[in-house]
Amino acid sequence: MNNDKKITVVLASRNKGKQAELSRLLGELLGDAITLLSLDDIGFTREIEENGTTFAENALIKAQAIAALGYVALADDSGLAVDALDGAPGVHSARYAGVHGDDAANNRKLLAALADRSDRTASFVSVFACAFPDGRAPIVAEGRVTGEILRAPRGNGGFGYDPLFYYPPLEKSFAELSGEEKNAISHRGAAVRAFAALFARANKEN
Ligand code: IMP
Repeated sequence: MNNDKKITVVLASRNKGKQAELSRLLGELLGDAITLLSLDDIGFTREIEENGTTFAENALIKAQAIAALGYVALADDSGLAVDALDGAPGVHSARYAGVHGDDAANNRKLLAALADRSDRTASFVSVFACAFPDGRAPIVAEGRVTGEILRAPRGNGGFGYDPLFYYPPLEKSFAELSGEEKNAISHRGAAVRAFAALFARANKEN
C-alpha cells in the first residue's frame, strides 16, 4: 500500500482568491498530497448551472461536471441559513436581493426580512465535494457555525453577510475577526478540515 500518493485535483471555481486560500489550507493539512489546478488550467470555459436545492447538491453538480471530463474535481458551495426564514437565503445567498454578489443589497434585504423577528438564529454552512472520474463514490464534507443576525452591521472585515453574523462565544461579528480567527471557527474552515481528513483516509485506501 502506498500512503504517499500525490493527486492532481481541479478546483471547480473561477474565484482566484478561493483557489489561493484553499491551496494554502490544503497544503497545511495534507502536505503536498494535492496539487490544485484551476478551471483555466484545464481550458474549461463553460458555466456550470447550479440548480441544486441544497449546498451538497450544488457542490456535487460542479464537481461531477469536471470529473466527467476525466479529472478528480473539488467544488464547494456555501451560504447562510436563517432559522426564522425557514433556511433562507440558503442556496440563493449570493443573489438573495437579485444581483449576484451584491453584498450590501443582500444584507439590507436580510435586515428587512428579520425586522420584526426576535428569533435571529442563523448558521453559515459550507460543503466541499470531491468527485472522481473512475466511478469511486464522491467525498462530501460539511462545516457549520451557528450565530445570530445583528440588527445593524458591525465590523469592516470579511465579505458577504459577515458584518451581520454575530458569534456569541467571541462576542464579535464575523467582520470583526481576523482571517485566522475566522478560519479557526468558520463553516469553511470546519468543512476544509473535515474534507482533508476524509480525503487522506480515502487516499490511503485506494
Ligand atoms: P459561494 O459558496 O462562494 O457561492 O458563496 C455563496 C454566498 O454565501 C456568498 O456570496 C455570501 O453571500 C454567502 N457566504 C458564504 N460564506 C460566507 C462567509 O464566510 N461570510 C459571509 N458570507 C458568506
